[in-house]
Order: sequence, then structure tokens, then C-alpha cells
Amino acid sequence: MCWTMIDVIAETINLHKMKYFILFGPPGAGKGTQASAMVEKYNLHHISTGALLRKEIAAGTELGLKAKSLIDAGALVPDEIVEGMIESEFKTVKGVNGFLLDGFPRTTAQAEVLDQMLAKTSESVTAVVSIMIPDEMIKERIRHRATIEGRADDAKEETINNRILTYHEKTEPLVDYYTKAGRYNEINGTGTIDEVRENIFALMDTL
Ligand code: ADP
Repeated sequence: MCWTMIDVIAETINLHKMKYFILFGPPGAGKGTQASAMVEKYNLHHISTGALLRKEIAAGTELGLKAKSLIDAGALVPDEIVEGMIESEFKTVKGVNGFLLDGFPRTTAQAEVLDQMLAKTSESVTAVVSIMIPDEMIKERIRHRATIEGRADDAKEETINNRILTYHEKTEPLVDYYTKAGRYNEINGTGTIDEVRENIFALMDTL
């Protein structure tokens, strides 16, 4: 039997179990920075909903136009938009050990949809890696990023404040959601990039 056939059979009976990691944390916690190192070391596919949305905005698509005003206001875009993006990545990306979700889920409703999406193939979230920094550091980090990346939503004080509010109101309840599910792991994000990365790797090696 040839290898392609073995692969097809293995995939059909679900031997190649994909891993689903969620990279969690407030805006500016360093998710994007750490994601690059994680995908390389563990052969994962990085899905950043923020980056995907910014790509749509840059391309001037209908979806991008819809998302832009919400992102500029520091609000969330509708669930269906990000859920559609995630599902299409799951279906099309092959040849990796799993996925690293960055910026999704961002609400309890999105977490429930993710659970349902994965349950269709008898899969589930492997683990949440949460990078935590205190509120006062969030603004400092975003201001610093604004000088490097030039993101529109990093430029205005009001947008930053709204994003922090949105995080506390809508996203932070996920800590409880995934703690109850026994999937939550927290890393102190206040150290240097190298220190945080080493702590993440030490955790990932146990997952
Ligand atoms: P941050 O680094 O501030 O967390 P992201 O790049 O992850 O920013 O996201 C930028 C913006 O894109 C968010 O403020 C939000 O408006 C939108 N966005 C990203 N992911 C989601 C999501 N899962 N649900 C709704 N909106 C999202």
C-alpha cells in the first residue's frame, strides 16, 4: 500500500489527531510575538483573526469594509465573520500538527461554537495558553507597538481604552470557561520576550 493511501485511511479514521491550542491574553500581551516561535517549534498553523481581518481591510473587500469601523471603534466584529474564517482555515490547512488560535475565541459564544465545530470530528480544544499582563502594561505595550507596526487601532487612546473594556467584559469570562473545562494554563507575560517564550515552551512540552 502506498503512503498517500495510508495517509487517506489514517485521516478518515482520525489517527492524525490535530491539536488545537488557544493563545489567550489581553491586547498587547505579546500573543503575536510568541505565536511565531510556537508555530515553528511545534509545527502549528497560526490563525490570527486580527491579522486575517486586517488583510481583508487592506484588500478592500466587503467583509473588510464591514469590519473596519468596528475595529477602529475598539469593538468586536460579528461572530459569524470570524467563525467562518476559522472553519475555512481548519478545512484547508494540512500537513501540520495542529492549529494555534490567536484572537479567537473572544467571547463565550465563540468558545461554544468552537467546541461544536470540533465535536463534529470528535475533536476538542487541547489547551489554552494564556499570557497575562496587568492593565497598566497593556497601554504601554500598545503605545510601543504603534511606533513599530502602525496599526490604526493602536493609534487612538479612545480605541485602546475600548479594546481594554471589551476585553474585560467579553473576553475575560473565557478564563472561567476554560478553567472549568480543565484546559486553562497561565503564563506570566511581564518578563522579556525570551523569558516568556521559555516559559511557554516549558508548558507546551507538557501538553
Ligand atoms: P489585539 O492584539 O488588540 O488583541 P487583534 O489583532 O487580535 O488585536 O484584533 C484586532 C481587532 O480585530 C479586535 O479589536 C476586534 O475588533 C477584531 N477581532 C479579532 N478577533 C476577533 C474575534 N474573535 N471576534 C470579534 N472580533 C475580533
